[in-house]
Amino acid sequence: MAPTQEEQQNEAGRHQEVGHKSLLQSDALYQYILETSVYPKEPEPMKELRELTARHPWNIMTTSADEGQFLNMILKLINAKNTMEIGVYTGYSLLATALALPEDGKILAMDINRENYELGLPVIQKAGVAHKIDFKEGPALPVLDQMIESGTYHGTFDFIFVDADKDNYLNYHERLIELVKVGGLIGYDNTLWNGSVVAPPDAPLRKYVRFYRDYVLELNRALASDRRVEICQLPVGDGITLCRRIS
Ligand code: SAM
Ligand code: CA
Repeated sequence: MAPTQEEQQNEAGRHQEVGHKSLLQSDALYQYILETSVYPKEPEPMKELRELTARHPWNIMTTSADEGQFLNMILKLINAKNTMEIGVYTGYSLLATALALPEDGKILAMDINRENYELGLPVIQKAGVAHKIDFKEGPALPVLDQMIESGTYHGTFDFIFVDADKDNYLNYHERLIELVKVGGLIGYDNTLWNGSVVAPPDAPLRKYVRFYRDYVLELNRALASDRRVEICQLPVGDGITLCRRIS
């Protein structure tokens, strides 16, 4: 039976909310996870920031609530204190991180766009965690180069979350592997890239998905053969690959 107009609208609403942020093949199952295990436990400021971001035209970029919950948990499990985030947008993953860190925890957060960060900043301030954040506006790569050059940041980061320009992930990796401590984690986001990593060559992909696909494929191959890290690729959100530095 064809769906009614109301059913179609609900479905569209759900897809808008889900976007390509979950690769689960069943929207109902994903909705079940959100409603049963994620939303009831989501801290109030994260809910506020998620709802604020949902009204922004680029909301497709935000980290999903289930991934935010995952990041928050993993940071606590590894007792992270000194962290970095590349790609902030309105700050949902940043807030998940800031809430997980101890009072004297630190996040070096970088984004080329300060405006979007400032949209979410009042919520972060109200949550009482803004003092943990050092936001730098501009491309991340030159900042990483300066940090490497200065020689004082080697092996100092417990956790680094990379969620920015996919064509630079391998460039980031070569620098971040020096900056993360042995035993520390780097998380690369969107490593399943809307499922396009297994799409046939003639698949109808959105332009930006097609553009970055080869970079994501190259990253995944490179991480799998990098002897400096152990990896774990999880189908959370759009895929996140955790790399634990071992040498
Ligand atoms: N982690 C964010 C969240 O939870 O909402 C989402 C980040 S969004 C997918 C990607 C961000 O990367 C954008 O805000 C964009 O401005 C930023 N970006 C793109 N190129 C960048 C670069 N070279 N250096 C730093 N940030 C960059
Ligand atoms: Ca992402």
